[in-house]
Amino acid sequence: MRVTVDRESCCGSGNCVVNAPEVFDQDDADGLVTLRITQPPEHLQESVELAAQLCPVGAIGVTRGAATH
Ligand code: SF4
Repeated sequence: MRVTVDRESCCGSGNCVVNAPEVFDQDDADGLVTLRITQPPEHLQESVELAAQLCPVGAIGVTRGAATH
C-alpha cells in the first residue's frame, strides 16, 4: 500500500491523525496534513483506509498492492 496526501485540498480537520496517528500528522506551522510514512505496514492499512474514507475533502489517496519505486 502507498499513501499520498494532497496538502492543497487538506483543511486541517485532523480526522486522519485521529484514525491513524502512526501514519498521519499535522504540520505544527499550518495545521495541514503531513505523512509520517508513505508505505504503511499491514497492521495499519485498515485504519489508513478508514482515514481516507473519512477525510472530509478527499485529500488522502490510497494505492493498494505492492509498493513500487
Ligand atoms: S482528514 Fe483530510 S482534511 Fe483532515 S487533516 Fe487529514 S487530510 Fe487534512
